[in-house]
Formats: sequence, C-alpha cells, structure tokens
Amino acid sequence: MNGDAGAGVTDPVAQQPAGPEEGAGDVTDGPLGLADLPLRPELRGVEPYGAPQLDVPVLLNVNENPVPPSAAVAREMGEAVAAAARGLNRYPDREFLDLRADLADFLALESGVRLPPEQVWAANGSNEVMLQVLQAFGGHGRTAVSFAPTYSMYPEYARDTGTRWVTGRREDDFTVDPSAAAALVEAEQPSVVLLASPNNPTGTALPAAVVEAVLAVAPGVVVVDEAYAEFRRAGVPSALELLADHPRLAVSRTMSKAFSLAGARVGYLASSPAVVDALRVVRLPYHLSAVTQAVARVALRHSAELLRGVADLRAERDDLVAWLRDLGLEVADSDANFVLFGRLADRHAAWQGLLDRGVLIRETGPDGWLRVSVGTPEETARFRGALADVLAGPAGARAC
Ligand SMILES: *Cc1c(COP(=O)(O)O)cnc(C)c1O
Repeated sequence: MNGDAGAGVTDPVAQQPAGPEEGAGDVTDGPLGLADLPLRPELRGVEPYGAPQLDVPVLLNVNENPVPPSAAVAREMGEAVAAAARGLNRYPDREFLDLRADLADFLALESGVRLPPEQVWAANGSNEVMLQVLQAFGGHGRTAVSFAPTYSMYPEYARDTGTRWVTGRREDDFTVDPSAAAALVEAEQPSVVLLASPNNPTGTALPAAVVEAVLAVAPGVVVVDEAYAEFRRAGVPSALELLADHPRLAVSRTMSKAFSLAGARVGYLASSPAVVDALRVVRLPYHLSAVTQAVARVALRHSAELLRGVADLRAERDDLVAWLRDLGLEVADSDANFVLFGRLADRHAAWQGLLDRGVLIRETGPDGWLRVSVGTPEETARFRGALADVLAGPAGARAC
C-alpha cells in the first residue's frame, strides 16, 4: 500500500532507531535483537512485568487463591467448555450480556448493590479492563493520577497509552489523606484517577470519605480498583455503594482472586452506562472468548460456595496479622488476601532465606517490607516456620 508522504507528515517508524552497524542490505550476524527494531523510545530497556515464576513448594507471591475450584465445579466447567466448543466456528457473543447479568447478580449478592447488566463490563482480567479505561479516557496530553505505594501495573497502562503519569503519596500508615488527594487532583486535572482499595501491596482499604473527596473535584473518571474487595473486613464499605450518585465513578473487580480463577482471565467493572459505552468503543472485537465466558458463568453459579471459602481465608489472614505482630513486626492492616510486614534491615536477605526454605513470597512495597499471600492453613504454617527460622538468623535484623 502506498500512503501519501505529504510534507510535514512525520512517520515515527521512518525515524530509524539505532540499528545494525552494517548498511542496508548487508547480512548481519546473529539473531534480530530488540535494538534492531523500531521500539517506541519509552519502551527501550524496559523489562516485562515480572513476578518470578519459580518452582517452589509453597507459592505465596502473587495473591492467588490457594484453593482451586472444586472437582464438581471443574467438571461443570469442562461440560460448559465442551458445549461452547461445538460452536467455536462462530465468533463469541460480543456484548456477553448473559455473563454481565451474572456478574451483576454476584455484585448484588456480595455488596447489596443492584445494577442492570448494561452497567457492568468485562474483559480478560481487570488489567485489561483498566487498560481499556486508559485507552478511552487517557492518551497524549492527558494525565492519570494515583497514590503510591500502589499497584505496579498502573504506570504501565499510562505508559502504553501515552498518558502522563502522576503519583501522590500515601501516609506512613498507607492511608490516603482526603484533602491532600483532592488538592493533587485539583492541581493536575487528571482525566483518570486510579484508587486501589484494598490497595496492593499494602492491603489498605479506603474509607468512602476519601473516594468522595476525590470524586468531588475530579474532572474525569475515577476508578476504584477493588480486586480484593471480597476479602474486606466486616464494616468496610465497597465503592459500589457510591455508584448511584457518581456516574463518573467506575469500580473494577476481578475473578482472579476471590473466585480462584486467575487462570481464566476474567475481570470486570461496574459504572454508569456512559462509561461502559466508552469501553465498548476501544475494546477489540470479540475480546472475551466463548470459552472464557462459559467458564466464568459456571464459577458465578457457585458464588455462594465461593464466598464461604473467602470467609475462611479472611480468618486465616487475621490470624496471620496477629501472629506477625506478636513477633514484634510492623504489619499493615489488611482487607485483602495478603499481608505486608516489615521492617527488615535487609529484606532481600529475608526473602531469600524464605525461598531457601521452600517458601516464595514477594519482595515489593517500600524498602524493608515484604508481602505474603494468605495460603492454605498448611502453606501458612510452612511460611510461619520458615519466617521464625529466618528471623532468628542474621537476615532477621530489623530496621528501626
Ligand atoms: C491482582 C490485581 C488485579 C487483578 O488482575 P487481573 O488482571 O484481574 O488478574 C487488579 N488490581 C490489583 C491491584 C491487583 O493486585
């Protein structure tokens, strides 16, 4: 195809990056490297998202649900996939209103907030949902705001959509000060604000007052990322309760954590019909496969059973927090299925000491802190034994 190479038109790909030393047409030695490709400058030298995937007996590093779907649920998923497979010559339901209705039913069950299916959206993980938010509302000349320390993927959505990225600070206890947050939003006029509640990696939930303070001044869309909402403690609200009064609020959820479905890749969002319409513009056609839709709908049919399992994990989490505090460690209050604890003089040595004992956790968060996911009772016991051992040795030194 022949495009018009009109004067003043700049084709970014025509601006050659640092390429091979030889002239065009020469045969170069070795395989093609990244440096030979016209990679966008902001991506040069960037490593892909990377929690280590190591083969270790106890995996408590990426906040998965330690309990897989039951044999009965897995069998039902298999049957649903077999039925869907009979129709795989056709594209899937592009608007997936059945799945959206099931998700709306689940939200009503879980939080008491009843929404029509048109106010629910889904994609391949809430990461894709939130990238779609940035694709629709971010972009060049626009700004997205969040409050650190927070989820490491947010700046990547901004980078990948050419959106300017600005972070405010959380307080020392990892809460967000409502007036400081509102002041930053007023100053930056972001088209998107991303608030994680409960926050990753700290586990901290935001009171409604913080979300409302941001909503009161935000000129654009405010996303509350509730990936861990099902694990919140009794009395902690969901931002879903604010949706009726705030059409530019979007609440993001996922089936990756509470639903034991990280491998299926289903995330979703609840907002006003207008926000959902914007996401429908940027989504790729047929982005949610028929297989994904079938598996998710089976899981949602069993959501009551699932919420009972979540209650067990919450109790396990509260015990873990108390146990870590009894050891004299600092522990962030957690409304999630993980716990952030510190402060260690050499957190990497402690992380390595745990790994040497067969327990993989996550070296993330502010310096001196480590994050551990809540596992099965057996896994948590292994973690406790290993940590007690590590803390008794040189890697157990505390930062003061
Ligand atoms: C795990 C997590 C998600 C969920 O990601 P998926 O793409 O749905 O698997 C979203 N936000 C935060 C803060 C998370 O920790």
